[in-house]
Amino acid sequence: MPAKGADMGTPAGPSVVVIGGGVIGLSLAWRAAQRGLSVTVADPDPGKGASYAAAGMITPVSEAAYAERELYQLGVAAQQQYAAFAAELTGATGLPTGYRQAGTLQVAWDIDDLAVLGEFRALQESFGVTVQPLTGRQCRAAEPLLDPSVRGGLLAPDDASVDPRLLTSALLMAATGAGVRLIRSAAVEVTVTGGRADGAVLADGTGLRADWVVLAAGWRSGSLAGLPPEAVPPVRPVKGQILRLRPGPGGPVLGGPGPGGSAPGGPPGLLTRTVRGVVQGSSVYLVPRESGELVVGATQEEMGSDTRVTAGGVWELLRDARAIVPGITELELAEAVAGLRPGTPDNAPVLGPSCLPGLVLATGHFRAGVLLAPVTADLISGYLATGELDERAAPFGPGRFSPGRQEARR
Ligand SMILES: Cc1cc2nc3c(=O)[nH]c(=O)nc-3n(C[C@H](O)[C@H](O)[C@H](O)COP(=O)(O)OP(=O)(O)OC[C@H]3O[C@@H](n4cnc5c(N)ncnc54)[C@H](O)[C@@H]3O)c2cc1C
Repeated sequence: MPAKGADMGTPAGPSVVVIGGGVIGLSLAWRAAQRGLSVTVADPDPGKGASYAAAGMITPVSEAAYAERELYQLGVAAQQQYAAFAAELTGATGLPTGYRQAGTLQVAWDIDDLAVLGEFRALQESFGVTVQPLTGRQCRAAEPLLDPSVRGGLLAPDDASVDPRLLTSALLMAATGAGVRLIRSAAVEVTVTGGRADGAVLADGTGLRADWVVLAAGWRSGSLAGLPPEAVPPVRPVKGQILRLRPGPGGPVLGGPGPGGSAPGGPPGLLTRTVRGVVQGSSVYLVPRESGELVVGATQEEMGSDTRVTAGGVWELLRDARAIVPGITELELAEAVAGLRPGTPDNAPVLGPSCLPGLVLATGHFRAGVLLAPVTADLISGYLATGELDERAAPFGPGRFSPGRQEARR
């Protein structure tokens, strides 16, 4: 079958095929189209990968405990642009994203957990982060439905959250509205001609030609045929089970404005802000949505591509969430799903040109792809439009996994 040009009927700028339409692929496709590139996204099920399972925390400070300094700085850059990113999306589409900036409260359940929080705080402060330490009483003043046993906490007031399902729906509409062509099919191969990536072959054998190929297929980014081994990104699936709890119809009013409930203007649920707990050494988070939904996550398991929800996974999440906020037992268990995060050897994303000219990587975002989507989109679309890579991407180049290898720029 003859190859189809990826830029037919769209702007005259360089053409790009983006393989993968999760939060990363859709964000960068939207931005690239805005910069005048002719963009095609191939994905059989856009928005239904890890992005569908994600909690949507925009929490570089709270994640700093797990992150390297450069990753933290990239996360802060993303967080700072998130409000504008979400507002622009809603302005372009009329669709909500669920963005809300209410902060994160990290809490410790017992005295040993308080020591763990102390270590988090020292690490966060070594990154130059200011977090506010709170006593147990102050934690309960901030979130009245916390369990009386909560010993203390750390407040990160700038943290935010978004509903990733709303976000990807808005991104899909914004991207197509900006001229992105969406093909609901998997890519099975990256084509290489004369030592340069120049397109992709879809599952039905259709060929797409383009000046650039961007690999943004989440944990599957390493599975495309046609790539030389040194250009294959080292991503692996890291399973995360996560729950969605909802107030039942006619059930008790568990929140709402006033004592024991949400603050005025907050969501009608148990909590006003994201709460991350350390419970006898185990981590759990609870993310409230405007709808009253409470997201409880997440396990972190090295189980290959297994996406089964297990009794043990659900039990651990509910056990730890209940220790922090006993009132969750009144909520309906509306959903339990497992998603596969795209993990890398150093837990940081892989961003920028690969050693194969024409092939650009935007993958490996592991626990922070929702947070990092706006900044990833800017870095990658900027590179595609100008051939220059913003220096903020330098620590995340694919070349870091193959010492001595120079990355091709064009
Ligand atoms: C339980 C859980 C909770 C999380 N919570 C958060 C959070 O609170 N905050 C945060 O920032 N991050 C969070 N994450 C991480 C975040 O979800 C990921 O980092 C992010 O979704 C990665 O986005 P992506 O677009 O790279 O991958 P994905 O969302 O997985 O999208 C990849 C896309 O590629 C498509 N695809 C795959 N193979 C092909 C192919 N061959 N051809 C074409 N298309 C293909 C898939 O259909 C999919 O749509 C969480 C993840 C999990 C699992």
